[in-house]
Formats: sequence, C-alpha cells, structure tokens
Amino acid sequence: MPQMSNRIQLFTDSVIRRMTRISDACGAINLSQGFPDFPPPKALTDTLKQIADDGPHQYSVTYGADNLREAIAKKASPVLGYPVSAEDEVLVTCGSTEAMMCAMMTVCNPGDKVAIFSPFYENYMADTILCGAEPIFIPLVPPSYEFDITLLEKAFEEGAKALVVCNPSNPCGKVFSRSELEAIAALAIRYDAFVITDEVYEHIIYEPYTHIAMASLPGMRERTITCNSFSKTYSITGWRLGYLIAPAEIADACRKVHDFLTVGAPAPLQEAVVTALGFPESYYKDLQHTYAEKRQYFLNGLDALGIAHNIPQATYYVMVDISAWLSLPQFQGWSDLQFCEWMTETIGVAAVPGSSFFREPVNHLIRLHFAREQETLTEALHRLRKMANMLPKGEAK
Ligand code: GLN
Repeated sequence: MPQMSNRIQLFTDSVIRRMTRISDACGAINLSQGFPDFPPPKALTDTLKQIADDGPHQYSVTYGADNLREAIAKKASPVLGYPVSAEDEVLVTCGSTEAMMCAMMTVCNPGDKVAIFSPFYENYMADTILCGAEPIFIPLVPPSYEFDITLLEKAFEEGAKALVVCNPSNPCGKVFSRSELEAIAALAIRYDAFVITDEVYEHIIYEPYTHIAMASLPGMRERTITCNSFSKTYSITGWRLGYLIAPAEIADACRKVHDFLTVGAPAPLQEAVVTALGFPESYYKDLQHTYAEKRQYFLNGLDALGIAHNIPQATYYVMVDISAWLSLPQFQGWSDLQFCEWMTETIGVAAVPGSSFFREPVNHLIRLHFAREQETLTEALHRLRKMANMLPKGEAK
C-alpha cells in the first residue's frame, strides 16, 4: 500500500467519540460525549416538518442563506458590541467544528505556531496539526483553572500567530473574567496575533457568571474570529450547524476555505434554524434555568456520594477527581482511560478521561456531563454509588 500522510500519525481519533462507542456497546449511561437527550424546541421541529414540504432542498448561498446570516448578525451584534454585517462578516458552517477548521486554515501556514489553553476541546490540536502548524499549550491549572499570563506571553514570544480561546470553556467549565480577557487581548494586540474563539456554551452559564465575547474588547474585533454553533443553544447537535464572525477581509478568506471544504451547510436546516434565532429572550433564560437545575441536581448527587468534583461556572461538564480510586490496590498504575473504560463496562456510566483534554501529565480527572433528563441523572448517580462504596468512608474527597 502507498504511504499515507505523516500528519495522520500526529493525532489519534477522538477519545470523546470513542467513549460514546464503548458506552453504546456496553449499554451504559453515556455521560461522555456532551449532547442533550431531550428534544429540541417544538417550534423548531415544527418548522423543520414544514420545510420538508416547502423546501429549500437545494444548495443555499455557499457562505450561508441570506436570512440566516441576517438573523445571526442581529443576535450577535449586541454581544460583540458592534453592528455585525450579514453581508460581509458572517459565514455559516457545518458546526463550529468546521468554523474552527476554516479559521485555522485561513490564518495558519505550515510551520506556524498556535497557542491553546489546556485542558482543551480535542479538536483544536487536530485542527492545528491538520494545518501543518504546531500547538503551544498554556496550562489552565486545576482545580481553579487559572493561568499564568507570562506563559501566554512566552508563547507569543516564541511566535504563536494565533491563540485559541474556548470561552466558556470545555471541559473545565471556566468562564474567562473580563480582566483575564483584557490581559489576553493586550498580548494579542502587542504581538499582533489572531484570536480564534469557540463560544458555543455562551448560553449555558450559571449565575453570577456572564459571558463576555472576546471580539467586544477594544482592539479585538479586527483580529478575532468568533466561532459559534446552534448545537448546544437549541439542542440540535446532530444538525451540524454553526457559524463564524470575522472582519470582512478575514471572513472572505474563510468563505473560500469553507466553499471548497463543504460547499455549504444543509439548506433545509439553515432555513429551520432561522425560527430559533427569533426566539424571545425568555428562551435563553429558560435554557439557563434548565441547566442550572441539572447542574445543582447532579452536583448535589455527587456530593451526597462523597465524589470530589469542580463546580463548573458554565457548560454542562463536571470534572470528577478519581485520585481516591487510583490509590486503591486494584487500580494501581491505571491510566484515566483504563479507569473510564472500566467505569463504562462495570459501573455502567461513561465518562471521558481528562488526559484527552490536558497536555500536562494529568491522570486524576475525568469529565462527566449532565445534559440528561433527570431520571437518567438519577440512574447514573445510583450506579455511581457502587463506585463510591468501594472507598473507605469519607475518602472520595
Ligand atoms: N462538544 C461535545 C463534547 O465535548 C461533543 C463533541 C463531539 O463529539 N462533537 O463532548
């Protein structure tokens, strides 16, 4: 067989999606890959049914249907703090996954360096490598997930041309504060770097935290590519619909990349999601409320079992500390991946090993998500009791 490319040796398949396959094979409760098990808003699915009859069923404009770009620009303008141009600054993509890849391919040459906060959503490293670029990781240090700004400066000194910021942050649930964002912005401006953001959890955020878009900071609009998605906000992860917003010249370049990557996002789904973008403010409040309740329910359940965890400021993920189990004789020397596989098969709850998010040698954290109906979370907690009971009383913390 002829040789395949070198780049495919440089990353593995997605551990998140691998855990879903293992979970399905075991019939476990899948708290690994983050997606909701409840339906999207009815108004959205009703519109989709109508569109099945009425269309469109053929290509939309490659960079996104006019009405969808207009709806995106209208929703994003107050968040970004300037009037976003639907005509020139918006690109509709197949999920924010494609938006991130387009952004990366637009700004990176082979050999360039890209700074990434770690832990990070696994696509960012694969995207960087697929562009022939090299990642530099800036640790967000657990349990508080703060970072050392001098390490970010060092990355820029070493030539990082772009920085990826996931805010709110998957997997650690961090919301970057205004002062953190300002410190990042000052460096990005000083070193004349691009910032590529992933803001897909902007609406899944818990009081008192609020989302601040990087592009809304002074001097950042011109260098920020804001990536976002409808997946989490409208519970439609399978629709694969996202978008990016960037200054016209950058957006135009991203549109070229997108055109040759995918031609366009599915036209009927684009048409349908316009309905969702017209939802009143109360929709987003209700969504926040729903997830705040789930967070409280699940974290209380973990507390009752004595299972140590962080308190996410946003997102539907929680990092659970498995140190107490790894020190039991039967788990001596185990990796977090082995632990997650064991947990899926034996306990019946699937999680993602923290090592698939961290570049630092972290082996004691696993990620669970709580985007599940309450009875599923109840059953998951019931199963986790078996795991908690393996520890001498009070030792999980
Ligand atoms: N963003 C979700 C997660 O982190 C889903 C990832 C995916 O598989 N697309 O679990």
